[in-house]
Order: sequence, then C-alpha cells, then structure tokens
Amino acid sequence: MSRLAVVCGGSRGLGRAVALLLAERGCRLAVLSRSHDAAQAAVKTLHGADHVALSCDVSKEQEVQKTFETIQKTCGNISYLVNAAGINRDALLLRTKPEDMVALLHTNLLGSMLTCRAALRSMLHTQDAAIVNIGSVVGLKGNAGQSVYSASKAGLEGFTRSLAKEVASRNIRVNLLAPGFIHTDMTAGLAEDRARSVPLGRFGTPEEVAQAVLFLLKSSYITGQVLVVDGGLQLAM
Ligand code: NAP
Repeated sequence: MSRLAVVCGGSRGLGRAVALLLAERGCRLAVLSRSHDAAQAAVKTLHGADHVALSCDVSKEQEVQKTFETIQKTCGNISYLVNAAGINRDALLLRTKPEDMVALLHTNLLGSMLTCRAALRSMLHTQDAAIVNIGSVVGLKGNAGQSVYSASKAGLEGFTRSLAKEVASRNIRVNLLAPGFIHTDMTAGLAEDRARSVPLGRFGTPEEVAQAVLFLLKSSYITGQVLVVDGGLQLAM
C-alpha cells in the first residue's frame, strides 16, 4: 500500500516540487493550500491517481483540525508531513506593521505547530513516520530586513529539535530543512545579482530542495537535525 504524504503549501514553489517527487516515488498525496483551485491544479499534474487537494489556512486552528480529520477519514494514516506553507513580508523592523508580524508568526511558526499537532495522532499508527519543516538559512544566521521572518524560522528550528525529542520513542522523526535562495514566487522580486553572494553562483531550484526533503523523509536514523540547502550561502553570511 502506498504511503500517505501531506504537503502543506503544496500548490506552488518548494511544496509543489516535493509533492511531484513524492508522487513519482509512489506516495499518495494530500496537497494543502489556502486556495482549493491552486491545490487542485497542482494535484492534476502529479504522477498516479487518488491524490487529494484540500483548502486549508495553516494559521487557523479549527481549519487545520477539520482538514486533518478529513484526511484521516478519507485517506487513512499519515506517513509523511512536509510543512512548506510560508510567507515573507520583508522590511526593516521600524517599517514592519504589527499585523505583518502576526501574519508571519501565525503562518510560518504557529501554522507548522498546528499541522504537526494535528498529524501526530495519525502518525502514531504508522511505521517510520517523518516530518520535515521548511525553515530558512535566515533563521540560522539572521538578515537585515527580515527580522520577524527570521524569528519565525528560528522558532521553527527550536520547535523541530524539541518535537524530535518528544516523539522519537514512537519512531517519528522530525527534521528541519533550511534553504537559501531558491527560484520560486517568493524570490521572484529579488534581483538576480543576489546570486553573486552565493558561493555556488546561482539560486537553487525547487527540485534540488525536493531531493533533500526526500532524503530526510527516508533517512531512518536522522532526527532533530537541520539540513542546509543553500549553495554555500550561509558560509558567506
Ligand atoms: P511560494 O512559492 O510563495 O509558495 C508558498 C506556498 O505556501 C503556496 O503553496 C501557498 O499557497 C502556501 N501558503 C501560504 N500561506 C499559507 C497558509 N496560511 N496556509 C496554507 N498554505 C499557505 O513560497 P516557497 O518559496 O515555495 O516557500 C516555501 C517555504 O520555504 C516557505 O516556508 C518559505 O519561507 C521557505 N523558504 C523559501 C525560500 C526561497 O528562496 N524560495 C528560502 C528559504 C525558505 P496559497 O497561497 O494558495 O495558500
């Protein structure tokens, strides 16, 4: 029987690349994003059948709870959870509106906490379940103009390391993947000359991140770790 993988933020960017790769590798996918149409469009491009698209705003507790109940009822137990739903609101702190701070923390940090919590009950019934949270090198190293985004991702690192300790005895693994600059909608506004700050000289692709997510999901003896996928960027930060 194929393994069930839930990808939050699976309609675009890194999450979509992860969903494509996991479907190719024989998983059944539940793709979540705020827009049902966008999630459905992504599902239509996946290899194989039986995948589902669900609209879910990960920052809303009741929506998350209901969505994961639906997944459990219609698809069964969850083997893999990938938290790739995220937003950025880059600005110097003095120019950051409090509502943007709340949105960043609620989506990037609280959102992953809520989905992990909702998925864990189901994962307890699965062999070798695994979670990958998508952080950022900015959460590890900091960056001017991204203090709140950075805080949301640094929080996610602490959450990941702690949850890994909490659930290891149940053979559930939890890791964080920290990308650098990757070509997606989120980085579309960034000038290409930023690539010069990357030791490998270019932005990464969503497919390169997806391969690393797959590695973490499959690595049965790795938990509570941070895997940096950034073309060497953090060395230069
Ligand atoms: P993206 O292309 O903008 O895609 C973001 C995804 O998240 C979309 O599927 C979006 O779908 C979903 N999403 C946003 N808010 C949501 C919410 N409240 N509830 C549910 N889904 C939501 O971004 P990306 O570049 O793939 O980024 C994915 C993750 O990687 C983010 O956490 C980001 O911070 C992190 N990251 C990205 C980079 C990079 O260079 N791209 C680098 C480091 C870290 P809807 O709009 O339909 O909801």
